[in-house]
Amino acid sequence: MYTRVMELNYWDSTECKRASYDQATKEWTVVVERDGVEMTLRPKELVLATGMSGKPSVPSFDGMDVFAGEQHHSSEHPGPDAYRGKKAVVIGSNNSAHDICAALWEVGADVTMVQRSSTHVARSDSLMELGLGSLYSESAVESGMTTQKADLTFASIPYRLLHVFQIPVYDAIRERDADFYARLQKAGFMLDFGDDNSGLFMKYLRRGSGYYIDVGASELVANGDINLESDVDVVRLTENAVVLSNGKTLPADLVVYATGYGSMNGWAADLISPEVAAKVGKCWGLGSNTTKDPGPWEGELRNMWKPTQQEALWFHGGNLHQSRHYSLYLALQLKARMEGIPTPVYGLQEVHHLS
Ligand SMILES: Cc1cc2nc3c(=O)[nH]c(=O)nc-3n(C[C@H](O)[C@H](O)[C@H](O)COP(=O)(O)OP(=O)(O)OC[C@H]3O[C@@H](n4cnc5c(N)ncnc54)[C@H](O)[C@@H]3O)c2cc1C
Repeated sequence: MYTRVMELNYWDSTECKRASYDQATKEWTVVVERDGVEMTLRPKELVLATGMSGKPSVPSFDGMDVFAGEQHHSSEHPGPDAYRGKKAVVIGSNNSAHDICAALWEVGADVTMVQRSSTHVARSDSLMELGLGSLYSESAVESGMTTQKADLTFASIPYRLLHVFQIPVYDAIRERDADFYARLQKAGFMLDFGDDNSGLFMKYLRRGSGYYIDVGASELVANGDINLESDVDVVRLTENAVVLSNGKTLPADLVVYATGYGSMNGWAADLISPEVAAKVGKCWGLGSNTTKDPGPWEGELRNMWKPTQQEALWFHGGNLHQSRHYSLYLALQLKARMEGIPTPVYGLQEVHHLS
């Protein structure tokens, strides 16, 4: 319906198999498979919109090859129904881990979350009311706010300063939900609010990970319905269990690796070449020198919605606000090039990190 109304030239059931760029003709060769038939496209520009959270990071543990149960990355999780009454171990403690643990618990699985390092948790209600309510809420709409104005307002604060505006929001959240956080920590959950207490959105921009927007799973962790093993690492898998660094052995029918996603240049490695992926470097992150976001400071999100070190290759991804807002800038840059309008670039981002 959306594609019809928007008159988009949309192909479903189509997978990009590979792509290469011809420097001489300044043209891409993009091989796709459409309904089982291979076709070659020759666009001037190529946008990888293959998901900022789309390239699974799958860990490698000793014994994964001998484990006789089922194991998969969170992105492959089929839902809880097949695991009623089974023993499940979920590796990780961020959004996907919480959602999957809660869903498994709801169908009666015996589920354990394995937490290696601390996670930021913000209750959805608190986040909406204290963090986003003035821009995105019914009362904001009543006060004359529109989605467009809200997106522009959010995007208007320079990344260099954004944490300064975020810290008081999370101070207020921490105060409002003090009992909740105390219960969670009493259960052994390792909690943080970011390196500088700037909370969820800065973690999202800096590292794209490390948080859970609580829609109920935290209560299950706090009251013990979801078992928790925290401050531990996985040592190995056996035929029927997960062995942890605290010496415990967790019997398991299912192991879910809720271990997150890698940089979008991983898609470039798969679809184009490892050389192009290295030339472009890491996508996302600000270079804030906080955990998992090494410096130097970049000024903007690495490689997103802007020219990259690979001519005519672009990356699009992110949350709904970013997709609505920054896709317009990307579209304008593409349109200008298609119309032959000069598009001088102030400077291409230097590559400091590969992934
Ligand atoms: C657990 C979790 C919770 C989230 N919660 C929120 C939230 O509450 N609010 C929010 O705004 N955002 C949230 N996000 C971020 C969310 O991913 C984005 O909002 C949105 O899904 C991104 O859309 P996208 O189109 O950029 O990427 P995706 O939705 O990941 O889509 C990428 C598409 O590319 C396709 N693709 C990949 N490779 C190929 C290929 N070779 N050929 C053809 N197609 C290909 C995939 O099939 C997929 O359809 C969440 C993400 C996760 C992981």
